[in-house]
Amino acid sequence: MYDIIIIGAGPSGLTAGIYSARAGKKVLILEGDAIGGQIASSPLVENYPSQAQISGSDLVDKMYEQAESCGCDFEFEKVTSVEKGTILKVITEYNTYECYAIIIATGSKPRHIRGLDEEKYLGHGIGYCVMCDGDFYKGQITGVLGGGNTAVQNALYLSNICPKVYLFQNLPQLTCEDTLKKRIKAKENIEIICNAQITKLLGENKLEQVELNVDGQNRLVDINGLFISIGQEPNNAPFTNLVAMDRMGYIIGNEFCQTNVPGIYVAGDCRTKTIRQLTTATADGSISAIYACSYVDEQKAK
Ligand SMILES: Cc1cc2nc3c(=O)[nH]c(=O)nc-3n(C[C@H](O)[C@H](O)[C@H](O)COP(=O)(O)OP(=O)(O)OC[C@H]3O[C@@H](n4cnc5c(N)ncnc54)[C@H](O)[C@@H]3O)c2cc1C
Repeated sequence: MYDIIIIGAGPSGLTAGIYSARAGKKVLILEGDAIGGQIASSPLVENYPSQAQISGSDLVDKMYEQAESCGCDFEFEKVTSVEKGTILKVITEYNTYECYAIIIATGSKPRHIRGLDEEKYLGHGIGYCVMCDGDFYKGQITGVLGGGNTAVQNALYLSNICPKVYLFQNLPQLTCEDTLKKRIKAKENIEIICNAQITKLLGENKLEQVELNVDGQNRLVDINGLFISIGQEPNNAPFTNLVAMDRMGYIIGNEFCQTNVPGIYVAGDCRTKTIRQLTTATADGSISAIYACSYVDEQKAK
């Protein structure tokens, strides 16, 4: 029996673990993949206070060591569902664990293009993280799918290392902020193609071309690397019938990181919020832990 079970060992979950364990609670952190979450794949982080420059994996190693030294238990098991009750049950692929309070900190993952065999070219022309994989396409022709801030920032990054960069946007215009629009339009080696739907990914063993439908006309574009930048989706499937979510599947949490179910809290990128960053994830981790600890104390006092 645990006081608090934290689902996900990314920055928000690890921070929640540090706060909860330091408050004397018996804490289990369940991680379905690898410690550290999304940032573990980033080669360089420059906006986390106190760490002017640090790799994502070094940063999360430090968070993990701190959580472990504070007394958090860890199990590498994917959570498949949760059962409500005075005592909450967390069900994984292998076990069922009981606790008074849960913090859901499952983060998010990149959204995929529907109906195309993206998987076939993963690591062979298709990527999601320009910071991680952009350098593999240095000197080659690349493209970015999307028209928001992340897509445009990715295209700008690639334009510094690639001779030609395409930006494929399915809408009539870009949806990024105005300063980025000005910057991208000033780049001579970026071609913006609006109203473009990617209809086929082509190539024998690696991506060589994309087939587009642009304003109803087919067009083939030679390309070596395509970065999909059409947003993120939360890892909230196990909680669909458990807590209230918005229409995009993010768990609705208030400023105390409470969900609509007593004893269940939500932290980090998997919850409704406008800014998804390390600092906001760790902030949520601390807030959710403080309120979860109070809830546990109330339950035990009953
Ligand atoms: C390439 C890249 C670079 C970035 N660079 C920066 C940056 O420089 N600065 C910055 O501030 N932000 C950056 N971000 C954003 C930042 O990484 C996220 O905001 C942050 O990681 C969110 O933390 P989180 O703990 O909420 O979620 P995540 O990091 O997504 O962690 C969630 C964890 O939960 C686990 N999980 C999911 N489902 C389950 C389940 N069912 N059972 C058990 N475990 C589960 C996942 O495996 C994962 O480990 C970057 C993101 C990416 C992808």
